[in-house]
Amino acid sequence: MTKYSPQFRIGNGYDIHRLVEDRDLIIGGVKLHHPEKLGLDGHSDADVLSHSIMDALLGALSLGDIGKYFPPSDEKWKNADSLFLLSKVIDLIRQDGWEINNIDSVLVAERPKIMPHIIKL
Ligand SMILES: [Zn+2]
Repeated sequence: MTKYSPQFRIGNGYDIHRLVEDRDLIIGGVKLHHPEKLGLDGHSDADVLSHSIMDALLGALSLGDIGKYFPPSDEKWKNADSLFLLSKVIDLIRQDGWEINNIDSVLVAERPKIMPHIIKL
C-alpha cells in the first residue's frame, strides 16, 4: 500500500457467459426473451452485467473478485439472484466507508436487442 490513498477510485469489471438452452437470460436483474430461447450459463443466475459491476466495485477497492465472496464451488450460490449478490458487495464497500458515484457499463451481444430494455436496466 502506498502512502497516498486516493479518495476516488475507479474499477474495471469484465465478465462473459456462454449462451445455452434451458436457462433464463437475466441481464442487470431483468429477464429478457432471447429469440432462440437461449440463456446464460453459470452457477448463479449468470447475470453477466451484475457480475461485471461487482468485479469493478471490488477491484476498485482491491477487495478481490466475486469468486472470492461467492465461489461457484459453494452450493449456497447455485442459481443465486445476482442482484442480491450485488447488494452484498455494495454493503461490503459501504462498510469500508465508500459510496458509488457512477457506473458505466458496456454490454456486448448480438441478440436479443438490448435497446428496448435499457430503461429497465
Ligand atoms: Zn459471471
